[in-house]
Amino acid sequence: MGMDIARLMFIWKILLLPASCIYNTLARSRITDIRFGLIRERAGAMRGPMTLLYCTAQKYNLVDYVHSLLDTTVVIPKNVWKRLVTDCVRSRYRARWTMTCMLYPKLRLFRLVVPQVAASVWWQVCRRDPAVMKACKLMVRIAAGEHGLRTGRARFVVHTCVCQHCDMYEAETVEHVIYQCSHPRVAAVRDRVMQNIADLMPRPMKDDVAAMTNEQKSVLFLSGLGGGYVAEWQHIYVNIAQAISNIYKMHIELSLLNA
Ligand SMILES: [Zn+2]
Repeated sequence: MGMDIARLMFIWKILLLPASCIYNTLARSRITDIRFGLIRERAGAMRGPMTLLYCTAQKYNLVDYVHSLLDTTVVIPKNVWKRLVTDCVRSRYRARWTMTCMLYPKLRLFRLVVPQVAASVWWQVCRRDPAVMKACKLMVRIAAGEHGLRTGRARFVVHTCVCQHCDMYEAETVEHVIYQCSHPRVAAVRDRVMQNIADLMPRPMKDDVAAMTNEQKSVLFLSGLGGGYVAEWQHIYVNIAQAISNIYKMHIELSLLNA
């Protein structure tokens, strides 16, 4: 991604050098030749640097802008070009990221929790408080479907996705474990840790969370309160990570006892 942005910025720089500069003259003549198909590169041969730059502009549909830099005297300001280039490159990578996530059913929750490519809130939380690193890692693992529950890979071993710790006959999903499983030991941990989180939340947030479905709450908590790190909420993030880890670990412990 960074390389493509650098290439597109380089095109702008070289085409806006003074007309008397030899590099500008060479670049203009070379790009014009490529544009009108006057350069045929041998199959398998390494592409020349100007071809590479031109192909990058084609890849992001920016070739018309390159032509206007060649054909007209209109100067696109550097900050405008940079914003255009960054937006094009980012939106292409975002679309590719979403498509890749859609190919993997186990990333269903991850797609909701991390709607865009950005540094995870959990990474920032454990950078400030390394003591919760394990809990933060677990949050990312749960969101990414690497949770060891019966709706994940474990179903291939145990041949059922139904939770065996309660009589609810529900699939052992992340939502079931965190909010619903009625096994007394899981429920006891849940009541304690969820109350802690509720006590820490500002009143409006607490009311919003109370009105949410279990799936919405899972997405909210696993995403670190909707994504976008807020330094004043560090203690709430830490409590959420520890709370969910404790409930999850209790559930996994029961599975190991029954195994
Ligand atoms: Zn259960």
